[in-house]
Amino acid sequence: KRVEVQVAEHGIDPGLLDERAVRVVQTLADAGFEAYIVGGAVRDLLLGMRPKDFDVATNATPEEVKSLFRRAFIIGRRFRIVHVVYGRGREHEVIEVSTFRALLVNESAEQVAGNEKTSKAELAGKSHVVDAEGRVLRDNVWGPQIEDAARRDFSVNALYYDPQRQLVVDYHGGLADAKKRVLRMIGDPDTRYREDPVRIVRAVRFAAKLGFELEPKTRAPIKACAPLLANVPASRLFDEMIKLLQTGHSLASLEELRKQGLARGVFPILDAMLNEKGELAEGVRGKFVRMAFEDTDLRVAEGRGVSPSFMLACMLWFEVLERWTRLRDAGEPAVPALGQAVDAVFDARIGDISGRGKLATDMREIWMMQPRFERRTGSGVYTLVEQPRYRAGFDFLRLRADAGEIDPALADWWEDFALGSDEDRAALVDEVR
Ligand code: ATP
Ligand code: MG
Repeated sequence: KRVEVQVAEHGIDPGLLDERAVRVVQTLADAGFEAYIVGGAVRDLLLGMRPKDFDVATNATPEEVKSLFRRAFIIGRRFRIVHVVYGRGREHEVIEVSTFRALLVNESAEQVAGNEKTSKAELAGKSHVVDAEGRVLRDNVWGPQIEDAARRDFSVNALYYDPQRQLVVDYHGGLADAKKRVLRMIGDPDTRYREDPVRIVRAVRFAAKLGFELEPKTRAPIKACAPLLANVPASRLFDEMIKLLQTGHSLASLEELRKQGLARGVFPILDAMLNEKGELAEGVRGKFVRMAFEDTDLRVAEGRGVSPSFMLACMLWFEVLERWTRLRDAGEPAVPALGQAVDAVFDARIGDISGRGKLATDMREIWMMQPRFERRTGSGVYTLVEQPRYRAGFDFLRLRADAGEIDPALADWWEDFALGSDEDRAALVDEVR
């Protein structure tokens, strides 16, 4: 049932729209295609929030989309989509354009039911590729809008907005769910989690970010399906976890994970940080991470950027610290011992995540800077403040002090030193000689 909702009812403020997204829709419409703003952006607009990014859905194929824009790039394998790019450098903006996709026929479910074994996609001469657990590996079969809607995850994520006519198209009661603040999976939740276990993490993320309740049928299969997350490629899971922690509601997200029994055993990084009950540890250790999360949430609320490397460095610090202490107690010199501890923690908790070189380098740098803060003599102090990553390293030191791990006087000293004139600096160095 396709329902068209007028502005009087949905109340979306056109002032929250992104000019470029509207232009993309317009260009596609002018070329005779259907095009809508879709997904999270419509959901956020409905809730009166300014979306951080805009996705567009259309019946044009990726090649057709590409041909209409000057800078457009077809990307992805699992999902082929087009990035339409505006602007350059820091100011650049990407509008993601995806082609309406056909509904999947879940092969393994069919086989269990004893129905015909040929999937609809195979009949069409193309293939959805599905693994033994029903997980979709590749999926580029185009279809009508109604099918595109049915394959989205939650009802509030399956709304289409036509900015020209200020019209919302709703197939799954997303508008009513948004009003009730309910997160409801489209279709049979158990099947949908099996198709893509990452939807479990998404459910948690949206519940925390939007302050929505999980509808009971959407919640029910989560615990039983959670072990399937083990089959998801580590890099995809890692990306989802980063998103989860950057919703601006990181502590609420952690709490929601705990409620769903997902706080432990799913994400190695969380295992490093939480106790057996899935709670933040007692004492300084828990306090440090809690403060880091509160800081991050505050930054998101104020529209400032958050850095995943800083957050991850915080989450894993106490494990680094434990290993570092052990190695030093065994007689290793401090700096090489820290290097070894860092390597060990990367191996244990991050593993081989390709394409994360920059992230790992940044984390390592923050950690390796910490012992340098303890040496306040010689020319080292001057070179340290001039480091491009000094700020991140210092913020980390400050957090350690605020949490009670180290003497706050050390962080105060560096704060004064960084701000001070040449004379102030000389005096500060004299002070600790
Ligand atoms: P955010 O505010 O975090 O960007 P979002 O809803 O836009 O939230 P995206 O990951 O950007 O999330 O995905 C865009 C849209 O694509 C979603 O709103 C949803 O309709 C669809 N989608 C994304 N991932 C999945 C998935 N795993 N299963 C089904 N639909 C999905
Ligand atoms: Mg999005």
